[in-house]
Amino acid sequence: MIVADIDLNLISALGDRYRSEPQKVRVLSEAWTEKNAFCCSCGGSLIREQNNARVLDFTCTKCEYEFELKSTRGNFATKIPDGAFDAMISRLSDASSPNFLFLGYDSVSYRVTNFFAIPNYFLDPTVIEKRKPLSPSARRAGWVGCNIIMSRIPEAGKVFYVRNSEIIDRSAVIETWRRTTFLQYETNLEARGWTLEILRIIQSLNVQEFTLKKMYDFEIQLKMRFPRNNFIRAKIRQQLQVLRDANLIVFEGRGHYAINFGHSVSIEPT
Ligand SMILES: [Zn+2]
Repeated sequence: MIVADIDLNLISALGDRYRSEPQKVRVLSEAWTEKNAFCCSCGGSLIREQNNARVLDFTCTKCEYEFELKSTRGNFATKIPDGAFDAMISRLSDASSPNFLFLGYDSVSYRVTNFFAIPNYFLDPTVIEKRKPLSPSARRAGWVGCNIIMSRIPEAGKVFYVRNSEIIDRSAVIETWRRTTFLQYETNLEARGWTLEILRIIQSLNVQEFTLKKMYDFEIQLKMRFPRNNFIRAKIRQQLQVLRDANLIVFEGRGHYAINFGHSVSIEPT
């Protein structure tokens, strides 16, 4: 157990010379991440990218996975603004696109309250919302950005290092990440979307156990999401097997299943 690795305190003095709040938040959170975080895929160290590619903040020195850091005071809003919409959509089917790190901190104590990673493959087009084009008077008139809809990201895809101020054991962080890496190899967005959608449905049940019959209740909803599929029930069963093979759910027999992803508790409001 290497719990002592993470120090929740941000070094607030680092932000003193910045007048702009977003810039200050960025500087504090980048410094914290570089010092405290590690690659959740292999445990390697993260180094800050010095180039000016804004979207790419950290690279693992061992496995070269890339991470984009997003930070906020307090809790994350339901929608997080990100870069250009078109670029984000094309990123979704690119397995080598950066993963995400989210850092939330308390603005009074300057302590990190939540820090978690989300693998790039936990995003599908339904997570990305197109923003209105910038007005003709804006400097980048017509530019179209996007929002990440946080509630559309299944909990199983949130790999917490710090949750509600509690530091998660390093090995548990890496294990949580590994459990969903099977999705990484699924670059077909519809196929991946199926797994994500089934995870969202299971999560929406808000229970620890559920039945196949209950899942069939979502047949119409799934048909609307995947109109080209004519075998929705068979697909539900197949996806439950995928989740079982990943140890995210457990078959209990006779159409009964138990949820095996522990993090179904929501982030406490601050
Ligand atoms: Zn790594």
